[in-house]
Amino acid sequence: MGYHTQSGRVVLVGAGPGAADLLTIRAVRAMSAADVVVHDGLVGDEVMALLPATARRISVAKQRARHSLPQAQIGALLVKEALAGNTVIRLKGGDPFIFGRGGEEVDACVAAGVPVEVIPGISAANGAAAALLLPLTHRDHASTVSFVAGECRGLAQQDWAGLAGKGRTLVIYMGIAGAGPIAEKLMADGLAPDTPVAVVERATQPGQRLVTSLLADLAGLVAREAIRSPALIIVGEVVAGSVARPALAKDIACLAC
Ligand code: SAH
Repeated sequence: MGYHTQSGRVVLVGAGPGAADLLTIRAVRAMSAADVVVHDGLVGDEVMALLPATARRISVAKQRARHSLPQAQIGALLVKEALAGNTVIRLKGGDPFIFGRGGEEVDACVAAGVPVEVIPGISAANGAAAALLLPLTHRDHASTVSFVAGECRGLAQQDWAGLAGKGRTLVIYMGIAGAGPIAEKLMADGLAPDTPVAVVERATQPGQRLVTSLLADLAGLVAREAIRSPALIIVGEVVAGSVARPALAKDIACLAC
């Protein structure tokens, strides 16, 4: 810190799954001090509206197959703005350290000697679970839960059977485009074709949807229902509990619309 004459800093803020009232108080406080906001595509208008009108906004929105700003450049941008003396708020969907590449941004700040702080956010899985009354662990159904990226390096090598199956809940982020191959891999790794699955689209946001089926039908479900990102896939017996109360789950989905 002492090397710089101005006192800029970077705060990675978890913006949660969408609804602004799911931000932490700490996140809202940090946001109110923003000189510069660097945000990605998952952060919605309701959250952006809480930023000071004076804050300069920079979008680094990424979409599948269209990377508008490479990760290294995002790190360099945060560092540059902080070294210029700004309080830089890096707003990230969900939690910064769950598939948010927050680690790489922290590394960039540390390497440059820029003070950096991380404020946790409600990850999509937690937001979805609460909104849909779908517990991720349950004394009767699951004592372990795994968060997995459906698109990442080394996916094919992963032992999916170790992550899903009896007594286990698997939550797949970024899995919609690859739903078919993911279901096939799970079954090839030994998971029963009739394992319950849920797909949660736009959890906690307007238009939130829950659809359920069985593993063998996952790709069909995604196609029939025209599921769009952002959406999560949840695999395991905990889903059966929510299937047992479909009317309730539907009502909840509509209430959020
Ligand atoms: N850091 C984020 C995840 C970023 S990866 C978090 O903790 O939630 C992006 C993926 O998150 C999306 O492809 C989708 O699978 C999931 N996701 C994010 N917001 C979501 C939402 N509101 N509803 C369902 N899935 C969501």
